Amino acid sequence: MISRYTHLIDLNDHPVSWWNGLLSLAQEIRNNPALYANSCRGRIMGTLFYEPSTRTQMSFQTAMLRLGGTIIGFDNPQTSSVAKGENLKDTTKIVSGYSDVLVIRHPTVGAAKAAARTAECPVINAGDGGHLHPTQTLTDLLTLKCEKGTLSGLTIGLCGDLLNGRTVHSLCKAMSCYPDNHFIMISTKELKMPSYIKDIIRAHGGTFEETHSLEDAIPKLDMLYMTRIQRERFASIEEYEAQKDTYILTTKKMKLGKPDMIVLHPLPRVDEIEVAVDDDPRALYFKQAKYGMYIRMALILTMLQSTKQTELLTGQQYPGISCKNPKCITQAEPYLPKSFTGSGTTLTCEYCDERLLLEH
Ligand code: ASP
Repeated sequence: MISRYTHLIDLNDHPVSWWNGLLSLAQEIRNNPALYANSCRGRIMGTLFYEPSTRTQMSFQTAMLRLGGTIIGFDNPQTSSVAKGENLKDTTKIVSGYSDVLVIRHPTVGAAKAAARTAECPVINAGDGGHLHPTQTLTDLLTLKCEKGTLSGLTIGLCGDLLNGRTVHSLCKAMSCYPDNHFIMISTKELKMPSYIKDIIRAHGGTFEETHSLEDAIPKLDMLYMTRIQRERFASIEEYEAQKDTYILTTKKMKLGKPDMIVLHPLPRVDEIEVAVDDDPRALYFKQAKYGMYIRMALILTMLQSTKQTELLTGQQYPGISCKNPKCITQAEPYLPKSFTGSGTTLTCEYCDERLLLEH
Protein backbone atom coordinates (compact mmCIF):
# COMPACT_ATOMS: atom_id res chain seq x y z
CA MET A 1 0.00 0.00 0.00
CA ILE A 2 1.41 3.37 -1.04
CA SER A 3 0.56 6.52 0.91
CA ARG A 4 0.98 9.82 -0.89
CA TYR A 5 2.74 11.40 2.09
CA THR A 6 6.21 11.12 3.61
CA HIS A 7 5.73 9.45 6.98
CA LEU A 8 8.24 8.64 9.70
CA ILE A 9 7.11 5.34 11.18
CA ASP A 10 10.46 3.55 11.38
CA LEU A 11 13.73 5.39 10.75
CA ASN A 12 14.95 2.45 8.72
CA ASP A 13 12.20 3.12 6.14
CA HIS A 14 14.38 6.03 5.04
CA PRO A 15 17.97 5.91 3.75
CA VAL A 16 20.87 6.91 5.99
CA SER A 17 21.44 9.90 3.70
CA TRP A 18 18.00 11.22 4.78
CA TRP A 19 18.93 10.90 8.48
CA ASN A 20 22.26 12.62 7.81
CA GLY A 21 20.41 15.45 6.05
CA LEU A 22 18.23 15.92 9.14
CA LEU A 23 21.27 15.95 11.40
CA SER A 24 22.95 18.63 9.28
CA LEU A 25 19.78 20.73 9.15
CA ALA A 26 19.34 20.42 12.93
CA GLN A 27 22.91 21.66 13.46
CA GLU A 28 22.26 24.53 11.08
CA ILE A 29 19.04 25.46 12.94
CA ARG A 30 20.83 25.23 16.28
CA ASN A 31 23.50 27.65 15.04
CA ASN A 32 21.06 30.07 13.35
CA PRO A 33 17.61 29.72 14.96
CA ALA A 34 16.45 33.19 13.86
CA LEU A 35 16.76 32.18 10.21
CA TYR A 36 14.05 29.55 10.70
CA ALA A 37 11.66 31.48 12.96
CA ASN A 38 9.03 31.85 10.23
CA SER A 39 9.65 28.71 8.19
CA CYS A 40 6.33 27.11 9.18
CA ARG A 41 4.16 30.22 9.43
CA GLY A 42 0.55 29.26 8.64
CA ARG A 43 1.18 25.52 9.12
CA ILE A 44 -0.53 23.40 11.79
CA MET A 45 0.84 20.38 13.61
CA GLY A 46 -1.64 17.92 15.18
CA THR A 47 -0.45 15.93 18.22
CA LEU A 48 -2.30 12.82 19.34
CA PHE A 49 -0.73 11.62 22.59
CA TYR A 50 -2.57 8.53 23.80
CA GLU A 51 0.24 7.91 26.31
CA PRO A 52 1.97 10.25 28.81
CA SER A 53 4.93 12.27 27.58
CA THR A 54 6.90 15.30 28.68
CA ARG A 55 9.94 15.66 26.42
CA THR A 56 8.62 14.23 23.19
CA GLN A 57 5.36 16.13 23.31
CA MET A 58 6.77 19.44 24.51
CA SER A 59 9.81 19.36 22.27
CA PHE A 60 7.57 18.73 19.25
CA GLN A 61 5.30 21.57 20.32
CA THR A 62 8.23 23.91 20.97
CA ALA A 63 9.81 22.91 17.68
CA MET A 64 6.68 23.87 15.72
CA LEU A 65 6.22 27.11 17.66
CA ARG A 66 9.87 28.07 17.11
CA LEU A 67 9.35 27.51 13.38
CA GLY A 68 6.43 29.95 13.46
CA GLY A 69 3.67 27.31 13.17
CA THR A 70 0.80 26.44 15.50
CA ILE A 71 -0.41 23.27 17.21
CA ILE A 72 -3.63 21.41 17.97
CA GLY A 73 -4.26 18.05 19.62
CA PHE A 74 -4.69 16.18 22.89
CA ASP A 75 -2.39 14.79 25.53
CA ASN A 76 -5.12 12.87 27.29
CA PRO A 77 -7.38 10.82 25.02
CA GLN A 78 -9.98 10.75 27.80
CA THR A 79 -10.77 14.39 27.05
CA SER A 80 -11.40 13.57 23.37
CA SER A 81 -13.91 11.38 21.53
CA VAL A 82 -11.60 8.42 22.17
CA ALA A 83 -13.39 8.28 25.56
CA LYS A 84 -16.64 7.75 23.64
CA GLY A 85 -15.15 4.76 21.82
CA GLU A 86 -13.85 6.38 18.64
CA ASN A 87 -11.35 4.16 16.86
CA LEU A 88 -7.84 5.17 15.80
CA LYS A 89 -8.82 5.30 12.13
CA ASP A 90 -11.57 7.87 12.63
CA THR A 91 -9.61 10.08 15.04
CA THR A 92 -6.63 10.08 12.69
CA LYS A 93 -8.75 10.78 9.64
CA ILE A 94 -10.37 13.80 11.27
CA VAL A 95 -7.34 15.37 12.99
CA SER A 96 -5.02 14.77 10.01
CA GLY A 97 -7.61 16.60 7.90
CA TYR A 98 -7.18 19.64 10.18
CA SER A 99 -3.37 19.43 10.21
CA ASP A 100 -0.33 19.69 7.93
CA VAL A 101 1.63 17.12 9.93
CA LEU A 102 0.45 14.69 12.62
CA VAL A 103 2.50 13.40 15.57
CA ILE A 104 1.16 10.31 17.29
CA ARG A 105 2.15 8.43 20.44
CA HIS A 106 0.20 5.32 21.34
CA PRO A 107 0.61 2.47 23.83
CA THR A 108 -0.10 -0.16 21.17
CA VAL A 109 2.59 -1.54 18.87
CA GLY A 110 2.12 -0.60 15.21
CA ALA A 111 -0.37 2.22 15.94
CA ALA A 112 1.54 4.86 13.97
CA LYS A 113 1.67 2.66 10.89
CA ALA A 114 -2.03 1.92 11.22
CA ALA A 115 -2.76 5.65 11.56
CA ALA A 116 -0.66 6.51 8.50
CA ARG A 117 -2.86 4.25 6.33
CA THR A 118 -5.74 6.68 6.51
CA ALA A 119 -4.04 9.96 7.40
CA GLU A 120 -4.50 12.96 5.17
CA CYS A 121 -1.08 14.42 6.01
CA PRO A 122 2.38 13.11 6.98
CA VAL A 123 2.48 11.07 10.22
CA ILE A 124 5.37 10.98 12.69
CA ASN A 125 5.66 8.05 15.09
CA ALA A 126 6.35 9.50 18.55
CA GLY A 127 6.49 6.02 20.13
CA ASP A 128 4.31 2.95 19.55
CA GLY A 129 4.15 0.78 22.66
CA GLY A 130 7.42 -1.04 23.32
CA HIS A 131 8.23 -1.11 19.61
CA LEU A 132 9.93 1.97 18.12
CA HIS A 133 10.68 5.60 18.90
CA PRO A 134 12.37 7.04 15.81
CA THR A 135 12.44 10.69 16.89
CA GLN A 136 14.17 9.75 20.14
CA THR A 137 16.77 8.01 18.02
CA LEU A 138 17.23 11.08 15.84
CA THR A 139 17.76 12.97 19.10
CA ASP A 140 20.34 10.40 20.17
CA LEU A 141 22.12 10.52 16.81
CA LEU A 142 22.32 14.32 16.96
CA THR A 143 23.67 14.15 20.52
CA LEU A 144 26.31 11.61 19.50
CA LYS A 145 27.25 13.54 16.37
CA CYS A 146 27.67 16.81 18.27
CA GLU A 147 29.24 15.39 21.42
CA LYS A 148 31.38 12.50 20.08
CA GLY A 149 31.89 13.91 16.59
CA THR A 150 31.09 10.57 14.95
CA LEU A 151 28.41 7.91 14.55
CA SER A 152 30.86 5.12 13.65
CA GLY A 153 33.36 2.92 15.43
CA LEU A 154 31.67 3.32 18.81
CA THR A 155 31.18 0.84 21.63
CA ILE A 156 27.64 1.43 22.82
CA GLY A 157 26.31 0.07 26.11
CA LEU A 158 22.55 -0.28 26.47
CA CYS A 159 21.33 -0.94 29.98
CA GLY A 160 17.96 -1.72 31.57
CA ASP A 161 14.69 -2.77 29.97
CA LEU A 162 15.97 -3.87 26.56
CA LEU A 163 12.89 -5.99 25.96
CA ASN A 164 10.27 -3.25 26.19
CA GLY A 165 12.42 -0.17 25.63
CA ARG A 166 11.40 1.22 22.25
CA THR A 167 14.22 3.77 22.40
CA VAL A 168 16.92 1.09 22.47
CA HIS A 169 15.23 -0.86 19.67
CA SER A 170 15.22 2.14 17.35
CA LEU A 171 18.73 3.13 18.43
CA CYS A 172 20.23 -0.30 17.67
CA LYS A 173 18.52 -0.45 14.30
CA ALA A 174 19.88 2.97 13.39
CA MET A 175 23.41 2.68 14.79
CA SER A 176 23.90 -0.69 13.12
CA CYS A 177 23.65 1.18 9.77
CA TYR A 178 26.84 3.11 10.54
CA PRO A 179 30.10 1.14 10.26
CA ASP A 180 32.01 -0.58 13.05
CA ASN A 181 29.66 -0.02 15.95
CA HIS A 182 29.69 -2.63 18.70
CA PHE A 183 26.78 -3.04 21.11
CA ILE A 184 27.01 -4.28 24.68
CA MET A 185 23.53 -5.20 25.87
CA ILE A 186 23.28 -5.10 29.66
CA SER A 187 20.10 -6.58 31.11
CA THR A 188 18.60 -9.35 33.17
CA LYS A 189 17.66 -12.51 31.32
CA GLU A 190 13.97 -11.55 31.51
CA LEU A 191 14.51 -8.17 29.81
CA LYS A 192 16.92 -9.11 27.02
CA MET A 193 16.93 -7.43 23.61
CA PRO A 194 14.38 -9.06 21.26
CA SER A 195 15.96 -11.41 18.74
CA TYR A 196 14.59 -9.53 15.74
CA ILE A 197 16.73 -6.52 16.73
CA LYS A 198 19.81 -8.73 17.11
CA ASP A 199 19.11 -10.18 13.65
CA ILE A 200 19.01 -6.66 12.20
CA ILE A 201 22.38 -5.80 13.81
CA ARG A 202 23.89 -9.01 12.38
CA ALA A 203 22.39 -8.36 8.95
CA HIS A 204 24.13 -4.97 8.84
CA GLY A 205 27.45 -6.53 9.86
CA GLY A 206 27.35 -5.02 13.37
CA THR A 207 28.52 -6.92 16.43
CA PHE A 208 27.07 -7.28 19.90
CA GLU A 209 27.55 -9.05 23.21
CA GLU A 210 25.14 -9.59 26.10
CA THR A 211 25.97 -9.34 29.78
CA HIS A 212 24.27 -9.02 33.16
CA SER A 213 27.04 -6.87 34.60
CA LEU A 214 27.04 -3.08 34.26
CA GLU A 215 30.36 -2.92 36.16
CA ASP A 216 32.07 -5.26 33.67
CA ALA A 217 30.74 -3.35 30.67
CA ILE A 218 31.36 0.26 31.71
CA PRO A 219 35.18 0.39 31.16
CA LYS A 220 34.73 -0.58 27.50
CA LEU A 221 32.12 2.01 26.57
CA ASP A 222 32.16 5.17 24.49
CA MET A 223 28.51 5.72 25.31
CA LEU A 224 26.30 4.30 28.03
CA TYR A 225 22.57 4.46 27.27
CA MET A 226 20.59 3.97 30.47
CA THR A 227 16.87 3.17 30.36
CA ARG A 228 14.00 3.05 32.80
CA ILE A 229 12.38 -0.23 33.80
CA GLN A 230 8.95 0.57 32.38
CA ARG A 231 6.25 -0.36 34.86
CA GLU A 232 3.50 0.23 32.27
CA ARG A 233 4.86 -2.51 29.97
CA PHE A 234 4.69 -5.33 32.54
CA ALA A 235 1.74 -7.69 32.80
CA SER A 236 1.81 -7.60 36.62
CA ILE A 237 3.21 -5.43 39.37
CA GLU A 238 5.07 -8.47 40.75
CA GLU A 239 7.01 -8.87 37.51
CA TYR A 240 7.89 -5.18 37.57
CA GLU A 241 8.95 -5.28 41.24
CA ALA A 242 11.24 -8.21 40.49
CA GLN A 243 13.11 -6.18 37.85
CA LYS A 244 13.21 -2.65 39.18
CA ASP A 245 16.39 -1.41 40.87
CA THR A 246 18.54 -4.09 39.20
CA TYR A 247 20.72 -1.49 37.54
CA ILE A 248 21.58 1.77 39.23
CA LEU A 249 24.29 3.99 37.83
CA THR A 250 26.19 5.52 40.74
CA THR A 251 29.13 7.90 41.02
CA LYS A 252 31.17 4.86 42.11
CA LYS A 253 30.34 3.00 38.89
CA MET A 254 31.03 6.14 36.84
CA LYS A 255 34.65 5.97 38.08
CA LEU A 256 35.04 2.76 36.06
CA GLY A 257 34.16 4.57 32.82
CA LYS A 258 36.56 6.18 30.35
CA PRO A 259 37.10 9.95 30.77
CA ASP A 260 35.36 10.57 27.43
CA MET A 261 32.51 8.09 27.89
CA ILE A 262 29.14 9.86 27.67
CA VAL A 263 25.94 8.85 29.46
CA LEU A 264 22.60 9.28 27.71
CA HIS A 265 19.08 8.43 28.86
CA PRO A 266 15.84 9.10 26.97
CA LEU A 267 14.27 10.10 30.31
CA PRO A 268 12.21 10.09 32.47
CA ARG A 269 14.62 8.77 35.07
CA VAL A 270 13.12 6.97 38.03
CA ASP A 271 16.04 5.75 40.14
CA GLU A 272 18.33 4.04 37.62
CA ILE A 273 20.75 6.98 37.70
CA GLU A 274 21.75 8.34 41.10
CA VAL A 275 21.06 12.10 41.20
CA ALA A 276 24.71 12.79 42.15
CA VAL A 277 25.76 11.47 38.70
CA ASP A 278 24.11 14.56 37.16
CA ASP A 279 27.13 16.63 38.24
CA ASP A 280 29.54 14.44 36.25
CA PRO A 281 30.39 16.26 32.99
CA ARG A 282 29.92 12.97 31.14
CA ALA A 283 26.21 12.89 32.10
CA LEU A 284 24.60 14.42 29.01
CA TYR A 285 20.96 13.37 29.34
CA PHE A 286 19.59 16.85 30.00
CA LYS A 287 21.56 18.29 27.09
CA GLN A 288 20.29 15.36 24.98
CA ALA A 289 16.68 16.44 25.63
CA LYS A 290 17.47 19.89 24.22
CA TYR A 291 19.01 18.38 21.10
CA GLY A 292 15.60 16.71 20.70
CA MET A 293 14.00 20.07 20.02
CA TYR A 294 16.44 20.94 17.22
CA ILE A 295 16.15 17.59 15.48
CA ARG A 296 12.33 17.80 15.65
CA MET A 297 12.51 21.28 14.08
CA ALA A 298 14.57 19.79 11.25
CA LEU A 299 12.17 16.86 10.93
CA ILE A 300 8.98 18.95 10.79
CA LEU A 301 10.52 21.25 8.19
CA THR A 302 11.75 18.36 6.07
CA MET A 303 8.49 16.45 6.19
CA LEU A 304 6.42 19.48 5.32
CA GLN A 305 8.59 20.09 2.28
CA SER A 306 8.80 16.49 1.11
CA THR A 307 6.72 15.13 -1.76
CA LYS A 308 8.08 11.58 -1.45
CA GLN A 309 5.49 8.84 -1.06
CA THR A 310 5.71 6.13 1.61
CA GLU A 311 5.29 2.42 0.98
CA LEU A 312 3.35 1.33 4.06
CA LEU A 313 2.32 -2.29 3.63
CA THR A 314 4.36 -4.34 1.20
CA GLY A 315 3.43 -7.84 2.34
CA GLN A 316 0.50 -10.16 1.81
CA GLN A 317 -2.69 -11.11 3.56
CA TYR A 318 -3.43 -14.77 4.24
CA PRO A 319 -7.04 -15.84 4.80
CA GLY A 320 -7.66 -16.72 8.45
CA ILE A 321 -4.18 -15.71 9.63
CA SER A 322 -3.70 -12.89 12.09
CA CYS A 323 -0.89 -11.66 14.35
CA LYS A 324 -0.76 -13.41 17.74
CA ASN A 325 0.98 -10.57 19.57
CA PRO A 326 -1.56 -9.30 22.15
CA LYS A 327 0.13 -5.86 22.03
CA CYS A 328 -0.25 -5.53 18.23
CA ILE A 329 -2.59 -2.84 16.90
CA THR A 330 -4.32 -5.41 14.67
CA GLN A 331 -5.76 -6.95 17.86
CA ALA A 332 -7.15 -3.65 19.12
CA GLU A 333 -8.39 -2.32 15.77
CA PRO A 334 -9.89 -5.37 14.01
CA TYR A 335 -10.75 -3.59 10.70
CA LEU A 336 -7.03 -3.36 9.84
CA PRO A 337 -5.81 -5.64 7.04
CA LYS A 338 -3.49 -8.27 8.56
CA SER A 339 -0.40 -7.98 6.44
CA PHE A 340 2.74 -10.11 6.63
CA THR A 341 6.13 -10.21 4.99
CA GLY A 342 8.21 -13.38 4.66
CA SER A 343 7.22 -16.71 3.31
CA GLY A 344 7.15 -20.42 4.08
CA THR A 345 6.56 -21.17 7.74
CA THR A 346 7.77 -17.82 9.11
CA LEU A 347 5.76 -14.68 8.56
CA THR A 348 6.46 -11.27 10.08
CA CYS A 349 3.62 -8.95 11.04
CA GLU A 350 4.06 -5.66 9.20
CA TYR A 351 2.73 -3.60 12.09
CA CYS A 352 4.58 -5.03 15.11
CA ASP A 353 7.49 -7.05 13.56
CA GLU A 354 6.46 -10.09 15.63
CA ARG A 355 7.19 -13.41 13.95
CA LEU A 356 4.46 -15.92 13.37
CA LEU A 357 5.43 -19.56 12.95
CA LEU A 358 2.98 -21.47 10.79
CA GLU A 359 2.44 -25.19 11.20
CA HIS A 360 1.99 -27.22 8.07
N1 ASP B 1 10.67 8.64 26.99
C1 ASP B 1 11.01 7.33 26.48
C2 ASP B 1 9.85 6.71 25.75
O1 ASP B 1 8.84 7.35 25.52
C3 ASP B 1 11.58 6.43 27.52
C4 ASP B 1 10.69 6.11 28.69
O2 ASP B 1 9.52 6.44 28.72
O3 ASP B 1 11.23 5.47 29.61
O4 ASP B 1 9.96 5.56 25.35
